[in-house]
Amino acid sequence: MKCYNIAIIKGDGIGFEIVNEAIKVLNAVCLNENFKLSYKEYLMGGCAYDITNNPLPNETVEGCKKSDAILFGAIGGEKWDSLERHLRPESGLLRLRKELGVYANLRPINVFDELLDVSTIKPEVLRGVDLLIVRELTGGIYFGQPRNKNTKKALNTMVYTKEEIKRVAIVAFDSAMRRRKKVCSIDKANVLEVSQLWRETVEEVAKNYSEVSLSHMYVDNAAMQLVYDPKQFDVMLTSNMFGDILSDEASMICGSIGLLPSASIGGKVGLFEPIHGSAPNIAGLGIANPIATIMSAAMMLRFSLGEESAALRVEKAIQKVLKDGYRTKDLANYGAKKICSTSEMGSIIAKNVAKI
Ligand code: NAD
Repeated sequence: MKCYNIAIIKGDGIGFEIVNEAIKVLNAVCLNENFKLSYKEYLMGGCAYDITNNPLPNETVEGCKKSDAILFGAIGGEKWDSLERHLRPESGLLRLRKELGVYANLRPINVFDELLDVSTIKPEVLRGVDLLIVRELTGGIYFGQPRNKNTKKALNTMVYTKEEIKRVAIVAFDSAMRRRKKVCSIDKANVLEVSQLWRETVEEVAKNYSEVSLSHMYVDNAAMQLVYDPKQFDVMLTSNMFGDILSDEASMICGSIGLLPSASIGGKVGLFEPIHGSAPNIAGLGIANPIATIMSAAMMLRFSLGEESAALRVEKAIQKVLKDGYRTKDLANYGAKKICSTSEMGSIIAKNVAKI
């Protein structure tokens, strides 16, 4: 029987709680499929800093590189906010993404019919939304040099090379070929030179995809269009920061940020994580929604392990559980049959995995 090695990084805040539930579901999947998973846990973020004075210990980087895939929760918290930038939990995560070379971050946004009334947006605007944000992940303003800060002036730099834009654009166009064949590239080309290069390069890549229709949209308009008419989008291609912001906005289309998974690909090993942060305000309360992490585990089964039927099994189990009326607190509404804790939600999904 095949056995895959999975690196587990729980991180800070709710990371521990949500990743435990994803493991519970993965273990249930294995019992019904023809493969095994072996897990090894690594430190990253504030918890790693507390023990090793380093938010990304070398052991974590090496262990992740040797694994078949990485499942990650979230990092960060107020406790570490005053540290120097390179010691902060977020620096650990940015460095790991760079070390792994995972330059494309896929963020699917689908609305569950069962949750149409959870969102603050009207159901008729939301029904049938199915879009994919392809976010560039290892370049742009989060990594640009020079950068510095003193008490009177601070500086960050948005830098993209043509090659960085091209490779993530190819991921977006390839994704569109498997979907509705539409790419909307998001930029600020009316103001930023870096966006002008972005636009020119995307146009060049588009020439190799005659079946895909390409449009461009300024990021400020995209922020508005996303809540005005989200169904107009198929694949949205974005730079690092624009995608970070737009996908948090898009989470409200689904009803909760606790529902949105992501896959970071492009390197030898994929990194799978929910789009949300460590939610320190609810950490330890047992109310975090584990679905985004469980869906990230499903993406891991699909993209890194090639176990499509197992991925579908997890996704169908989530749908069934929501249909049956189970909700974590962030999704509680009049359609809820039972409000669950984080751990109860994981257990119900794991139980349903076997029945699919
Ligand atoms: P956040 O995503 O952690 O939380 C924003 C809001 O969403 C909070 O009200 C939180 O309670 C809620 N929320 C988030 N995940 C939830 C879930 N699974 N279920 C229910 N509710 C959920 O963002 P923030 O508050 O801006 O940041 C908190 C910390 O997380 C910061 O230190 C930040 O740097 C870090 N962060 C980490 C990542 C990551 O690890 N990838 C991403 C974003 C932010």
